[in-house]
This record gives sequence, C-alpha cells and structure tokens, in this order.
Amino acid sequence: MDWVVTEYKKRTGKVFRDPDRAIRKLSQEGQLIKISKGIYKYDPDFIEHKELEDFTEAQKEAIFKRDNYRCVICGKGKTDGVEIHADHIRPKDLGGTATIENGQTLCAQHNFQKKNYKQTETGKRMFIRLYDLAKSTNDEKLLKFCKAVLEVYEKNDINGHIVWKR
Ligand SMILES: [Zn+2]
Repeated sequence: MDWVVTEYKKRTGKVFRDPDRAIRKLSQEGQLIKISKGIYKYDPDFIEHKELEDFTEAQKEAIFKRDNYRCVICGKGKTDGVEIHADHIRPKDLGGTATIENGQTLCAQHNFQKKNYKQTETGKRMFIRLYDLAKSTNDEKLLKFCKAVLEVYEKNDINGHIVWKR
C-alpha cells in the first residue's frame, strides 16, 4: 500500500484520501491486478498492453454516438432490445489500434459473427496447408478429407478472400 501511495503521488501529484478504496478502483480499471484478497500486483507490460489496444469508455461512447447507437451491419440498437459493442474494424492482433476511426458499433450477434468468421478463416488456412501437405506426400485419404472440407467452404461462400488452389 505504501508503494502505491508513493508511486501514485509521484505520477499524478495526487494523494489518496482513502487508499483502500483507491486501490480497489485502480484494480477495477485494470491498473492493478488482483492476486488475492488484499494482494495486488502492478505489471507495466499488462497495463501498457491494455491501454494501447482497448477502447476507453469515452472512445466507446464516441463510436456509439457517431454510429447513432446502432449496429453498422443490421441497424439494430438498444431500442430494438439488442446490446451494442465497440468493435475494432482492424483487429487488435492484426495491429489495429484503439482509435475512434478504427471503431465501429456492432450488435452482440454481429460482433459474435465477426469473431466466429475469424475462427473459420483460421480453419480454412489450416485445411489448405493440410491439403498441400497431403498432396505432396500422396496421402489420398487425407487429401480426400481436406478437399471435402474446403468444398464446403466454397459451397457456402465462406472466407472467399482466402484462395484455395487445388
Ligand atoms: Zn447487427
């Protein structure tokens, strides 16, 4: 506790009036990681990571407001009884940053679907690699299986931007 109080004063110039409450608040904000009751950890890497990639509450509000509090895909919003989320247009793990320009409002369903499509992309890439491997090793059984799976992708027009060369 002494360390947090000193460090907080050094960085912000402010003194905690109620250190117990302040530490709980820092933990809720993700500035401190709760290990167990009364024990918190400060990890600069974790904090930096979080701050860099996640939208702040103010950014979320700005994104929602710009999009009229409606999903940019289906147009549904709170008045239709759906939950809205602030989504990174370019995903975080592909270098997408927490800027309002990189944000879009999605309903819970479309947010889920977007994440789900990423799973199918990973799957398609994996089956393409497996298909190529089966081809190079003349593994007929595996080749037939991969071909069948990849044809399902084609038939349902899923992830067409990932090209499978037969
Ligand atoms: Zn939607």
